[in-house]
Amino acid sequence: MKTSHKYVYFFGSGKADGNAKMKNLLGGKGANMAEMVKLGMPVPPGFTLTTEACIEFYKRKKKYPPGVKKEVETHMARVEKIMKQKLGDPQDPLLFSVRSGARASMPGMMETVLNIGLTTKTIPGLIKKTNNPRFVYDAYRRLIAMYSDVVMEKAAGIEPEEGSGIRARLEALIDKVKKKNGYETDLDLTAEDWKSLTVQFKKTVKKVLGKPFPDDPMKQLWGSIDAVFLSWFGKRAVSYRRIEKLPDDWGTAVNVQTMVFGNMGEDCATGVAFTRNPATGDNNFYGEWLINAQGEDVVAGIRTPFAINNVSKVATNQHLPILQKSMPRLYKQLDKFRRKLDTHYTDMQDIEFTIQDDILYMLQTRVGKRNGPAAIKMAVDMVKEGLISKKTAVSRVKPEQLDELLHPMIDIKAEKTATKLGAGLPAGPGGGVGKIVLTADKAEELGTKGEKVILVREETSPEDVHGMKPSQAILTSKGGMTSHAALVARGWGKCCIVGCSDITHVDLKKKTVTFRGKVLKEGDWISMNGTKGVVYEGKMPMVATGPEKNPSYKKLMAWADQIRRLKVRTNADTPEDARTAIALGAEGIGLARTEHMFFGDRIWAMREMIMADDIKGREKAVAKLLPMQRKDFYGIFKAMNGRPVTIRLLDPPLHEFVPHEKPMQKEMAARLGVSIKAVAAKVDFLSEFNPMLGHRGCRLGITYPEITAMQARAIFEAVVKCRKEKIKVLPEVMVPLVGTSEEFKDQKEIIDRMAKEVMKKARVKFKYMVGTMIEIPRAVLVSDQIAQEAEFFSFGTNDLTQMTFGYSRDDAGTFLPDYVGKKILKDDPFQAIDKEGVGQLMEFSVKLGRSTRKNLKIGICGEHGGEASSVAFCHQIGLDYVSCSPFRVPIARLAAAHAALADKKK
Ligand code: PEP
Ligand code: MG
Repeated sequence: MKTSHKYVYFFGSGKADGNAKMKNLLGGKGANMAEMVKLGMPVPPGFTLTTEACIEFYKRKKKYPPGVKKEVETHMARVEKIMKQKLGDPQDPLLFSVRSGARASMPGMMETVLNIGLTTKTIPGLIKKTNNPRFVYDAYRRLIAMYSDVVMEKAAGIEPEEGSGIRARLEALIDKVKKKNGYETDLDLTAEDWKSLTVQFKKTVKKVLGKPFPDDPMKQLWGSIDAVFLSWFGKRAVSYRRIEKLPDDWGTAVNVQTMVFGNMGEDCATGVAFTRNPATGDNNFYGEWLINAQGEDVVAGIRTPFAINNVSKVATNQHLPILQKSMPRLYKQLDKFRRKLDTHYTDMQDIEFTIQDDILYMLQTRVGKRNGPAAIKMAVDMVKEGLISKKTAVSRVKPEQLDELLHPMIDIKAEKTATKLGAGLPAGPGGGVGKIVLTADKAEELGTKGEKVILVREETSPEDVHGMKPSQAILTSKGGMTSHAALVARGWGKCCIVGCSDITHVDLKKKTVTFRGKVLKEGDWISMNGTKGVVYEGKMPMVATGPEKNPSYKKLMAWADQIRRLKVRTNADTPEDARTAIALGAEGIGLARTEHMFFGDRIWAMREMIMADDIKGREKAVAKLLPMQRKDFYGIFKAMNGRPVTIRLLDPPLHEFVPHEKPMQKEMAARLGVSIKAVAAKVDFLSEFNPMLGHRGCRLGITYPEITAMQARAIFEAVVKCRKEKIKVLPEVMVPLVGTSEEFKDQKEIIDRMAKEVMKKARVKFKYMVGTMIEIPRAVLVSDQIAQEAEFFSFGTNDLTQMTFGYSRDDAGTFLPDYVGKKILKDDPFQAIDKEGVGQLMEFSVKLGRSTRKNLKIGICGEHGGEASSVAFCHQIGLDYVSCSPFRVPIARLAAAHAALADKKK
């Protein structure tokens, strides 16, 4: 890569060195600020230190490459010239903000320091200029708090216990003043209060951190720039990148920008808005603002934000003023910018603005996070509006976002009679049921173990992300629709309610949550309707929802279907599952596991077969199973109505069908008319040290050919019955767990013999295919031989992963989380295909298989068939189809379309 030696890029006053396309170098924030300047919008001037500077900084053991300091000075002088002010000037000081800005938005994950340049020398000048000492000391205390937290504590690698960090200590000092004077909010504090607090702040910083807060503007500036670069490898940023699967080597940019203030008086304000509604996708301006406030007040949820217009109003701010009425001229200007940005970027933008002395400034624009239903609606609407193509629309919706349309909700009927605990803002859709937990660590601990938990906090911060992910839902007592919890949950499509003011107290010591006098403990069950914003007591039933009633979804999926090459089938064992999958777009069955058909009453015929000592006995028992199996297959064929159906012969070890407890063995003995001893002996005989590597798969059919014969006969007789009823059928008989071509040949002979017999008896001819699963590494290596016999392959990636890694698929849960946590593995290989190892085997098998049978049909039916990155991989290596559980069919369809689009881009 050619490295540019320009490490600093300027923006402001109608000119910018960068533009929106330079995100990799300038980070999202820096690139978009440059673009807004170029679009003629009022952006406070500043400059961006590039991500290359960050990468070099780490390469050089946290030292800057030569020239960076000089470049910063030059750009600083340029900004000072525009502003006609100077950093550190005692008369008229210029103040700066220093903010991070990575390529991809990482909301609140990295650091920000505001009001840089306030020192004991510059404070009097600023007071004189603004005639507002309260504002100046308020700004100064914010600087001390942010700087000591970000630069002196976090960047220095100090990790205090939750609640005892420097920021919390300083905030406790503010609370003390409030309590003493009976103040309700920060707004009640006077200039004198803030002034004396800044003195106390500085003392506390020195005492706790052992160093004084710097009184030199350049030291403040460089300390902040260093800290932002260092925050790239901070705990929160690293944990967010793991979850979002972002690489470590991108680095972050740093934006140094002139401060503008939304908190200088009543003609000042600040806000966050979306160019379209991020919860519904509707094309209306949607946002929150606060008069006389700084940006963090809106996002942190300390005050209840106002709505910018009537359509943005929610339950908590009905009575509060809207920007459209309070500052109509500025609202009009902002609305003009909103339209311009929405059409210029041809995507919904999340914007930040500040109003200082009746002048509007744009601080940020970026692609806004949205939930699944909103993403679909916006994408489809923008095609209608002529802004984007159908292909772009399809690429805009993440496959996983479809999950939200299929998201379970709490049962409406149960909701009618449930005890309501409180209400808040509907920040994340769907339902959530779980036990209350009060800290992110506890949520992580229990959630990753599979327990259903709901994280309840006053508000969340980026430090809570690791616990938010494994929670069923998130509930906060404070915060608005753009608060941290709302933003993060929306991005993930997680059920979330924020600003639930009915929570009157969260007591971390006593581990209780009080809902207007009603005290609940950690561990108590609650249920949430995130779509309406209501919290209920207890564990309520959930119901699945369907996307059928969403016209935008239907349109988008139809476009996706036109784009994709891969076919999408489903794994289904019953006609009911098959019908559900067809409704969700399945084009066939890729795996019908027949073992599920031998439970219930049928288990007795199965057990009779297992107990039989000779072929005759087994055949007699198996004959009882035949009509039942025929009925099963007939039902599935009928439901699939001509679509291909792959039926797999019996796979699991026989011991799964016999009872292991004495009383049940007694019952079995009585029912089959054999001795208890004989039953116990059989159970003993069938027990294996390593059943997953034992007598299972085609090994069963080889020792007990009558099982294969019965299943094949049942399949073909069902075909004949369908033919008579004019139902089209395309059966594909699949042999499991094949490792050698001889095994396959042995089974195929039986299947072919049965087909012949059935055809002869019924005097009809029908087509069928016989193929195999590829789930043993040896089968991969001899795929050319197997393909001489087999007409299709289907990758059983559950077993193939198990056998390639040598990780037991049933036991890997005990160590895989550690492996992923320690980055020994990037992902859980049972969820996303390990492309490097298992994937290489698959690719090899495809090549080898098709070398002997050119048109070999190949699919996948392991769990990976419904996971987006695995679907993309299957597309790349030339599979014909993927097969997954019914509810993942839409995800696979969209992922397949994305893969095809990515292919064309190459
Ligand atoms: C597989 O191994 O991937 C597979 C689909 O079969 P099962 O999960 O039934 O072993
Ligand atoms: Mg398998």
